[in-house]
Amino acid sequence: MPLKIYNTMSRKKEVFKPVKEGQAGMYVCGPTIYDYVHIGNLRAYVFADILRRILKINGYKVKEVMNLTDVDDKTIKNSQKAGMKLKEFTKKYEKGFLENIKDMNIEKPEVMPKATEHIKEMVALIKKLLKKGFAYKTDDGIYYSIRKFKDYGKLSKIKKENLKAGASERVLKDEYDKEHVNDFALWKFWDENDGDVFWETELGKGRPGWHIECSAMSTKYLGKQFDIHTGGVDLIFPHHENEIAQSEAGFEKKPWVKYWLHNEWVLVDGKKMSKSLGNYYKLKDITDRGYSPMDLRYFYLSGHYRKPLNFTFTNLEAAKNTYQRLKNIISEIKKSKEKKNKKNINAAYKQFLEILNDDLNVPKALSFMWEILRENKLNDAEKYELVLKFDKVFGLKLDKEEKIKIPAEVKKFVAEREKARKEKNWKLADELREKIKNAGYYVDDTGEGWKIRKL
Ligand SMILES: [Zn+2]
Repeated sequence: MPLKIYNTMSRKKEVFKPVKEGQAGMYVCGPTIYDYVHIGNLRAYVFADILRRILKINGYKVKEVMNLTDVDDKTIKNSQKAGMKLKEFTKKYEKGFLENIKDMNIEKPEVMPKATEHIKEMVALIKKLLKKGFAYKTDDGIYYSIRKFKDYGKLSKIKKENLKAGASERVLKDEYDKEHVNDFALWKFWDENDGDVFWETELGKGRPGWHIECSAMSTKYLGKQFDIHTGGVDLIFPHHENEIAQSEAGFEKKPWVKYWLHNEWVLVDGKKMSKSLGNYYKLKDITDRGYSPMDLRYFYLSGHYRKPLNFTFTNLEAAKNTYQRLKNIISEIKKSKEKKNKKNINAAYKQFLEILNDDLNVPKALSFMWEILRENKLNDAEKYELVLKFDKVFGLKLDKEEKIKIPAEVKKFVAEREKARKEKNWKLADELREKIKNAGYYVDDTGEGWKIRKL
């Protein structure tokens, strides 16, 4: 079955047909690097990662571009608060973000462009929009006139006539000189709040708006028309709507993007995550409580990307236990020396691919893996080979032995047990194995010596 994905533009599942055969270009709205990302953001990046992995197993050569927003109101304000230069400040959170995606086993995108390094491209696009009459100048900046773009609202299905002030969080407060309340800034002229952050350009001294960076950077690296654009559902309006308005007016390619894919929210205890509710978690808050990034990844994978995911520590604990059980099974079947039947493996893999190709149904693919492990249609060696193939998509590090910290007491028992075994004192060795078990660990005797794992 060919790969089918749900396109937000048509509100339908569509067969994926790329602009260039055999290649897939995708753009992912990346983070604003003024703080560490929260678990809602991380879901969006894990989703994009799963998508690129599925494109790859379908034989596409993937080029993924993820932007880093390193200049906007928040980065400027927070860098000033921290008493740091903007560049120095954003560098810190860029590093934090790269660590986060590595920990989550998210494959690094091919290009991660920064807004501040693409001012030239943004200025060029804004100049084009001014020339074509889609943009106009006011006292404080250059704005996009949504009235001029007749397709405005085609992604979000919002009618521009019905747009009111306050509909968008990004609407500037001082709207008095804009033609329409939802007209958005392409370029903001410098004012004293910006401090030393500005660029002297043909447009005047100032800095770019947020939306323009995605139009300029995506097309620079992927071409004036490309395959896939992803983001969280919260970005559909106004951000992605505005990106379309800028790009289709500026580059005159329709559609600018062929497939729009959006992942749903992460809720915390059934509520929207927010700093004021105190239900706002970053990766470190999760790992500090003894969960690994892979526990969190397993939790994300348990829900379909187009459904909201309810995060609770009970749910995360369940994911952790399931993940641990899975790893234990794998370390068992790994030892099998049985003869493998290629036909069995290929048939199961084909089924797996079909499940994923139906709009990236990862939760169903996970159940399918569990079904294979539970049933005895395949032998252990075949199961093991399949699981490794599946993990190319899941990215759960299923074959990696986890480094575990063994308490000193347990280490002592293990050493004593080794000694007892050498002395052929089997009774004592067994007693010590029990003691180790009671402490929550299990010793395995393998050809290369002993191995210990958490129960
Ligand atoms: Zn964007």
